[in-house]
Amino acid sequence: MSPNLTTDRPTFVTHLECSLTGERYAADELHNLSAAGKPLLVRYDLAAVRGFLPRAMVEARATDLWRWRELLPVRRTGNIVSLGEIETPLVPIAKSAGSPNVLVKDEGRLPTGSFKARGLVMAVAMAKELGVTRIAMPTNGNAGAALAAYASRVGIETIVLCPDDTPEVNVREIALQGGRVYRVNGLIDECGAIVAKGAAEGRWFDFSTLKEPYRIEGKKTMGLELAAQLGWKLPDAIFYPTGGGTGLIGMWKAFAEMEALGWIGSDRPKMFAVQASGCAPIVRAFEAGEEHAERWEDAHTIAAGIRVPKAIGDFLILRAVRESGGRALAVGDPAIVQAVTDCARRDGLLLCPEGGATLAAYRQALADGLVDEDDRVVLFNCATGLKYPMPAATATLDKNAPIDWDAL
Ligand SMILES: *Cc1c(COP(=O)(O)O)cnc(C)c1O
Repeated sequence: MSPNLTTDRPTFVTHLECSLTGERYAADELHNLSAAGKPLLVRYDLAAVRGFLPRAMVEARATDLWRWRELLPVRRTGNIVSLGEIETPLVPIAKSAGSPNVLVKDEGRLPTGSFKARGLVMAVAMAKELGVTRIAMPTNGNAGAALAAYASRVGIETIVLCPDDTPEVNVREIALQGGRVYRVNGLIDECGAIVAKGAAEGRWFDFSTLKEPYRIEGKKTMGLELAAQLGWKLPDAIFYPTGGGTGLIGMWKAFAEMEALGWIGSDRPKMFAVQASGCAPIVRAFEAGEEHAERWEDAHTIAAGIRVPKAIGDFLILRAVRESGGRALAVGDPAIVQAVTDCARRDGLLLCPEGGATLAAYRQALADGLVDEDDRVVLFNCATGLKYPMPAATATLDKNAPIDWDAL
């Protein structure tokens, strides 16, 4: 077990707050959305954290996710079910990015092979703390896998609904890790509607992204980690593959919290929300100057993790992107495939399609002058590339026949 989990530490959660209206809600009670139907954000007594936890104290700790314990919602360490949530590395990809200043934060190294582990380890710990016994969730694959793993470990029952064309490996890993998984003839928001209906009937607790308050707290650790890894100086730009946007919203929240703690200044990276051109509701709303994003009809892309036609946190994503001076960018599937191929062939790093989308978007942004070659840029690779279909490799060699050595 992580040394960061061997002792109970003081916790600093004061309340929850509606992300639209600011209305306050009690901590330590079960919540989904606010009365206004918007995500709830966890608030901390940051002045008290500032007194208790100097930056140097964090630096002295083991570098896993639980190093940030005082900025996380779980009250009792005993409720945490850990599978070893490590700090993920920043890997330079100078050749395929064309600049030595581009780093990939490789989230594929986390338990269950994706950064969904960050959100779900937190949400499941809170579900345990608050007495939940049955959870349902819609997923495009990776979230369901992380939920099934952590919930099974702690003995919570899970029902997981995914679109019927979800990557096969995801459906099977959910089932093998003890989730009751169903393939639905619809997209993730249509799966979500079924989950919401069952929750309204009291059948289970709804774990949809941003419909429970704690996944965002887990995802926020990406922002905390980045700061620590880069010597408390945030990068110039972040490219984030955006579906529900939990990670982007979470990092933006983390930056504000770190500034309040005196750990960083007021400089912020430009936040680039990257979507696939076959499903780009946030890009469309960004370009139209809208505060909310309409549902994207007939959504399609090989990057399953960002095939989210309608995001409940749309206004939070758009706000963060605009405040940061960033952009929402769409890239086509061919550019995604090209980026994955280049990065694998030239830098030896196997990205997932969503990670490939961030590299494709970086290339586009560089060509359009939105970022500079000298800028320090972080791209998020949110899952291991090993989970996704790869091009066939069909060459064979007959050990009994004469070998054409020069042709090998
Ligand atoms: C879930 C997921 C995303 C999108 O993350 P959000 O924070 O929900 O926007 C991107 N890539 C992969 C691989 C995912 O599993």
